[in-house]
Parts: sequence; C-alpha cells; structure tokens
Amino acid sequence: MSYIDSVLNQVAARNPNEPEFNQAVREVIESVAVVIDRHPEYRAARVLDRMVEPERLVQFRVPWIDDAGEVQVNRGFRIEMNSAIGPYKGGLRFHPSVNASILKFLAFEQVFKNSLTTLPLGGGKGGSDFDPKGKSDAEVMRFCQSFMTELQRHIGPYTDVPAGDIGVGGREIGFLFGQYKRLANEFTGTLTGKSPGWGGSLIRPEATGYGAVYFAQEMLNTRNDGLKGKTCLVSGSGNVAQFTVEKLNDLEAKAVTLSDSSGFVHDPAGIDAEKLAWVMELKNVRRGRIREYAEEFPGVSYHESDPGADHNPLWAIPAECAFPSATENEVSARDAANLLANGCFVVSEGANMPSVPDAVDQFVAAGILYGPGKAANAGGVAVSGLEMAQNIGMIQWKREVVDHRLADIMFEVHDACIKASERFDAVGNYVVGANIAGFFKVADAMMDQGVV
Ligand code: NDP
Repeated sequence: MSYIDSVLNQVAARNPNEPEFNQAVREVIESVAVVIDRHPEYRAARVLDRMVEPERLVQFRVPWIDDAGEVQVNRGFRIEMNSAIGPYKGGLRFHPSVNASILKFLAFEQVFKNSLTTLPLGGGKGGSDFDPKGKSDAEVMRFCQSFMTELQRHIGPYTDVPAGDIGVGGREIGFLFGQYKRLANEFTGTLTGKSPGWGGSLIRPEATGYGAVYFAQEMLNTRNDGLKGKTCLVSGSGNVAQFTVEKLNDLEAKAVTLSDSSGFVHDPAGIDAEKLAWVMELKNVRRGRIREYAEEFPGVSYHESDPGADHNPLWAIPAECAFPSATENEVSARDAANLLANGCFVVSEGANMPSVPDAVDQFVAAGILYGPGKAANAGGVAVSGLEMAQNIGMIQWKREVVDHRLADIMFEVHDACIKASERFDAVGNYVVGANIAGFFKVADAMMDQGVV
C-alpha cells in the first residue's frame, strides 16, 4: 500500500461517520502526493499524519433560555487544527447542520487557505448547531453570551481569533465580542468581523465576495479576458453572495441569480445596485427569504428547492461564470455537467468546498478556469488578518488601502497557485496549485519546529 493510501485509510478509520472531513482530506492529500514523492523528508517526519489530526478539539454544552422561558441546550465546538504558522484563525458557523465532521473539514481547509494568504495565520473553525433563523435578537444575544462564556477560555489575540461564517454576521460578532470583553477584561482583537466603530476593519464584510471576484478576474487575465459583459450565476444570498454581486456590478458583469435554502431567483435583467440594496435590507435587516425578490421585481422567476433532487436548476441557466456562495457540496456532478454544457468556463468558489469531488474532476478535465474555495475565497480571512494587524497597531486603515491590499493578496494567491501548478507539472490546475502552495509553508514550519 502506498504511503498516501495508508494515511487516507488511517483518517477513514479514525474518523468514521465524518464524510465531509474525509472528503476534504482526500482532496488535499491526493494533490500533495507528488510533493511527498519528491521530498521524502516530509514523510519521515510524518508531516501528513500530523496535519490530519487537530491540535485540539473542544466541544461544550451551550445552555440558554428562550423568550418563552424554556431552557434550550445546543452544542458548541472549536477545532484548533494547526498553529504552525500563526494563531488559529477561522470562522464560527451557527447552523443546525453543524457537527464535528463539518467543522473539521472547514478547519482543515482553513489551514491551507490561511497559508496561501501570505499572512501568519494558523487554521481553526468552530460553531454550533444553534439556528439563528427565526430567533429574536434577545435570544441570539443570550445564546452568544452562553457560547462565549465557555469559548473565551480557549481563545485570545495571540492564541485563536474566530470570525464569522454561515449564521454569524455583524450582529452575532457584536454579542460575542461584548461577552468576551466582559469576561477577559480586555479590549483586544480576539474576534474579527467587528463593526468599524469598535475595532473592525473596513472592507471585512465585503472581503470574501470581492476576493472571489478578484480571483475570477485574475484567472480570466491569463486568457486575456475580463468580467465585463459576462453573465454570472451566484448562489446564496448572505454575506459572500451579496458582495460578490456588488463587485460583479462594479466590473460591469451581470449577476442573474441568488438563492437561499428554500429556493433561487432568476433575474435575466441582472441584479443591479438598487436591487442589491433591497436584497441587503431583506436579508440583513428584515431577515426575510429570497422568494420575496420575485414578488418585488418584475420579470423574475422563483424556483423552490427540491432537497431530494440530484441537481439544482440554478446551475443549468446559460452563463459564462459561476460563483457558488452558499454552502458545501451544493454543486453536484449533474450540476457541473449542466454548467459546462451551457457555456460556463469560469467557476470561482466563494463558499467552502461547494463542488462535490466528481464536479471538481469535470471542471479540471474540461480545462475551464476553476478556482477552488481555499484559494478563491481566501480574501475573507486575509482581511481578517489585516484587521488583527490594525488592532495590534491601534490604527484603522482607509477603505481604499484595505481594498488595495485585498486585491494584492488575491493576486499573490493566484500567482502562488499558478507557480505551484507549473512546478509540479499540472499547469493551470488551481486545485493542485492551491493545495501544494498552501502545503509547503505549513509543512516547512512543522519541520522547523520539531515533533510537536
Ligand atoms: P451567510 O449565513 O451570510 O449566508 C449563507 C447563505 O447560504 C444563505 O443564503 C443561506 O440560506 C445559504 N445556505 C446556507 N446553508 C445552506 C444549505 N445547506 N443549503 C442551501 N443554502 C444554504 O454565510 P456566508 O455568506 O458567510 O457563507 C457562505 C459560504 O461562504 C459558506 O460556505 C462559508 O463557509 C463560506 N465562506 C464565508 C466567509 C465569510 O467571510 N463569511 C469566508 C470564506 C468562506 P438560508 O438563509 O436559507 O440558510
């Protein structure tokens, strides 16, 4: 049995019933097999075997009281995956589907993504199976306070710095920070995604979506092409999707879809700035459903989701570009075939691991410009890193400064992917490029630091 297979078997045996974690590990390990062949020193030091074990995995009870006075109990987690190149860094997800497998996959991806950003950030992820949907602000606050009461003993500005993810936006970060500050008795940048009035970086909310569009632009540059005039499919309607649409509009592309877990809207005329402002109010203030967009604007169709189906008709709409920005495994094998059949040749993933392995294989085999999440959505954590730098320096940079740095970092991430893919005979394959480029920095740091 090859060394790579033995590591994968070990991961499967030690982490049964964790399909997402096994999926994420397989993708990275298969990409770096060629590196291990050329560098037996990594194998001797069991670098891969160590990378697939979280440095620390914390699980805790989160009891809280709802508005009816009933006691509710959720599960909280923090996965501290790898701190070889910096403090653990990665978001918190509040969604009923959250479990150890999903958070371990996200934490594992985060290690390589953070390495690609050029910043000194280790990898982590956390969250809870709490569902903020349908809860009052007071309930969300009580939950966040209880969650942080335990989490605070595991985090700190130089230890572990969480941020937002699905279900954790500005409101939740505010409540979490308030309780952290109270318990720690210090005002430090232990969370990112804070409001700009009290330590947040400008452009942090925009960063993941903007970054995914900058990455698409970099990929298109390699073919002397650009986004102007291109029709784009965007899934999700949360933080990442909203700012993806905003940047696409800035660059004169046309976004024609948005979705949530209930269904998607198709607006052939394009989601312009005015419509997007309406969506932001709908989603971020009124916390409504995307279906309402079709009731508000003429010429828009709404398609209810069919959870049992093997495809999502959103991905069958003819378009040149796709920005999956909702959640993992949302692009099925059939969706990938539909995208390719209908003219899509750019896929830039705002979400983490949104394409199933078969879909990824189809994109790579077709030779389209396919930017995997760990590269294409690295802009969010990159600006979180810039928020940490601003907090440590007690300074706030201007919007243009942060946006410029974000664009620069996305250029660097893209360049690192290209160079690694060339060095390992996989020219233009961003999956291999991202995994290998991300791997080297972490692996070398682990070698330098001994067996820890
Ligand atoms: P939000 O909570 O702001 O929005 C998530 C969106 O995706 C909502 O429209 C939600 O719909 C939809 N969605 C969530 N789960 C599902 C599901 N199981 N099926 C269908 N639709 C779903 O989250 P973000 O925009 O922050 O995150 C979106 C993706 O981007 C995630 O994969 C996240 O990990 C990734 N990401 C986020 C970063 C960030 O900075 N925020 C950074 C890097 C990656 P509904 O309201 O119905 O749940």
